[in-house]
Amino acid sequence: MASVVDTKLYDILGVSSGATENELKKAYRKLAKEYHPDKNPNAGDKFKEISFAYEVLSNPEKRDLYDRYGEQGLRESGGVGSGMDDIFSHIFGGGLFGFMGGQSRNRNSRRRGEDMVHPLKVSLEDLYNAKTTKLQLSKNVLCSACNGQGGKAGAVQKCSACRGRGIRIMIRQLAPGMVQQMQSVCSDCNGEGEVINEKDRCKKCEGKKVVKEVKILEVHIDKGMKHGQRITFSGEADQSPGVEPGDIILVLQEKDHEVFQREGNDLHMTHKIGLVEALCGFQFTFQHLDGRQIVVKYPPGKVIEPGCVRVVKGEGMPQYRNPFEKGNLYIKFDVQFPENNWISPEKIAELEDLLPARPDVPDVIGDIEEVDLQEFDSTRGSAGGHRREAYNDSSDDESGHHTGPGVQCAHQ
Ligand SMILES: [Zn+2]
Ligand SMILES: [Zn+2]
Repeated sequence: MASVVDTKLYDILGVSSGATENELKKAYRKLAKEYHPDKNPNAGDKFKEISFAYEVLSNPEKRDLYDRYGEQGLRESGGVGSGMDDIFSHIFGGGLFGFMGGQSRNRNSRRRGEDMVHPLKVSLEDLYNAKTTKLQLSKNVLCSACNGQGGKAGAVQKCSACRGRGIRIMIRQLAPGMVQQMQSVCSDCNGEGEVINEKDRCKKCEGKKVVKEVKILEVHIDKGMKHGQRITFSGEADQSPGVEPGDIILVLQEKDHEVFQREGNDLHMTHKIGLVEALCGFQFTFQHLDGRQIVVKYPPGKVIEPGCVRVVKGEGMPQYRNPFEKGNLYIKFDVQFPENNWISPEKIAELEDLLPARPDVPDVIGDIEEVDLQEFDSTRGSAGGHRREAYNDSSDDESGHHTGPGVQCAHQ
């Protein structure tokens, strides 16, 4: 727990601000026995003070408020039981001011400030390797000079027009024993229940109760975090008196990567190989996201068809919170065919001898008509435009461009 704003209530119970629930309970029991009015009629308000301190500190919500904002937090939250007016002023001095008004405004729940949502761009490398990064932002914090009260102690006056309630109630008697109640927001204090004299206003915040502060957040990007994942800093958003600060929420934005595309915990990449590699085996090296040089080997005699996909198990992204388990790496092969006329006509026969035999051309009966195949730009609209082929789809028909010797359509 960070430092607390005020320790009065802890002092009353004779415990430190880091006291556990148990320690609080023990301290309270011991003191309550000692100062109970039946036993100790001369103790004055001591018993009430002890009870009040325990009531606040034994309630985690109230304690949190008190730790963060001191008496102001209790006052504004309306979280203190009614009838505590005397004891509150006895402990903190100055009376409850806006407290009653605060209570009527926030009867059931304490107001919560808005969350601040920021996108945070992260590289695939950072998501693979993890990274701690510092983020600087400017936010409102309660003014330390006045403890978020807007003026020195006693400067904040209960609004006399509404007696600190923030609202004014008019009661009209309609008939004997029958009254009508009308409520309106107090115009003297704008419903805040308190006013600050100009001369007593806090110089630092000019009575605004909050000041801008630059805050550095340490952001831990864990291995395997995903695009859109949120990192929350509870209660780090703008502070405002009597309002529980909202969260700062960072939303991860995964940057595109030159080599890898991510899908869940899997990675995808495309690798270009030549025809000779596709037919006769190959080896290539790429750099992984953690800098390792990965050598990929494919033995001679195994064939890579254009557009086919092979998988390297366990070389994908680490799993979030289980980083030793990794997804897979899928490599799609883009087979580069040779240019037109890359081989002399004499050599073609040699090549054909080496390649698998042509299919038999069936005899054609009847009239025939011979046509030419021409170059065709497939980007200018064509049939069969399946952009996303399924994996292992080896029938990748890049129509037209490279009408090499073995590629032909035998329609019947
Ligand atoms: Zn101030
Ligand atoms: Zn007022």
